[in-house]
Amino acid sequence: MRTSDIFDLLRDGRPRTRAQLADETGMARSTIAARVDVLMRLGLVAPSGGARSTGGRPPSLFALNPAARVVVGMDVGATHAIAAVTDLGGTVLGERQAALDIADGPEVVLGWVVSVIGELLADAKRPEADLVAVGIGLPGPVEHSTGRPMNPPIMPGWDRYDVPGHVQRTYPVPVLIDNDVNIMALGERGAYLPDVDDLIFIKVATGIGAGIISGSRLQRGAQGTAGDLGHVRVGTGDGVVCRCGNEGCLEAVAAGPALVSALTAKGLAVASTGGVVELVRGGDASAVQEVRRAGRDIGEVVATLVNVMNPSVVVIGGRLADAGEHLLAGIREIVYQRSLPLATEHLQIVASRAGAQAGVLGAATMAVEHVLSPEAIEAASAGVG
Ligand SMILES: [Zn+2]
Repeated sequence: MRTSDIFDLLRDGRPRTRAQLADETGMARSTIAARVDVLMRLGLVAPSGGARSTGGRPPSLFALNPAARVVVGMDVGATHAIAAVTDLGGTVLGERQAALDIADGPEVVLGWVVSVIGELLADAKRPEADLVAVGIGLPGPVEHSTGRPMNPPIMPGWDRYDVPGHVQRTYPVPVLIDNDVNIMALGERGAYLPDVDDLIFIKVATGIGAGIISGSRLQRGAQGTAGDLGHVRVGTGDGVVCRCGNEGCLEAVAAGPALVSALTAKGLAVASTGGVVELVRGGDASAVQEVRRAGRDIGEVVATLVNVMNPSVVVIGGRLADAGEHLLAGIREIVYQRSLPLATEHLQIVASRAGAQAGVLGAATMAVEHVLSPEAIEAASAGVG
């Protein structure tokens, strides 16, 4: 039993005595005392009131000390960014938003990233020494192990750019990078579905993608492209050419721009995904029909994913999810029709509750998970032990 094993028990926030920790782990009381001492010196565990006792001095209780350190999480989109500073329990201590253009390139955008970290720490009245990690979501494919974007289509100048290295010139802490839909999956789970181990988050906006959590771990795949649903071929896509050059991709028939073209062709004045959502909310019959049709197209791919991954929850998020039940109804219709009965028996298909906050919360979660991982706890313990 290592120090990180003791810490793992205490991470649920429930206070325990040394004796309870010894019972739960089977370790000697003296070993427990030494491990708890290391965690207290790291500031990660703190005394938590006194336990009820049958007499004499009450035994000390210990629990995770979420306020000990902070992380910064950021969701950097194509034209907009949200950043937040949170403690180790995910409590948001301050937030900033900004309009920015990812196409301005890494120097400009990361200049904002670095300056906003300083502003957030100042807002939360925390010294720079309290910052232990930064998590950033970007709107394109990322090699998670190096933090470098890989041929991102809407991010000119970012290909293979060393994003962590840039941020670390000012803040020398771990900097974790992932694509936007992966962090949205982490954020949704962390905030609303912490007990769900098998979850698929589907973002439907200008593009379509999925963040896949299986066995409670985010699945990135060998090259980090797992969950790229947008370019799976669907039955209704015959003859429709996608921006990727292939024909019949899901994105080419069911993402925001496809709905804008379909409705424009019907004579409606609509220019953006947001415009489509407004028409649906206003009760426009053609828009409702198109969104429901898009839902069925998405459902075709989700049905396959459900058969392969057997998730217990499928969350639908992204700008088009704001069109509400019509999109979900189309997805549900096809998924329940085409997936195996056993796979859908307890399956829930729900709208994102984290909404626009999913990405920033997930970026912070990614940073916290890194800092509190067994490897990181062992490394930190060796420094004070
Ligand atoms: Zn495509």
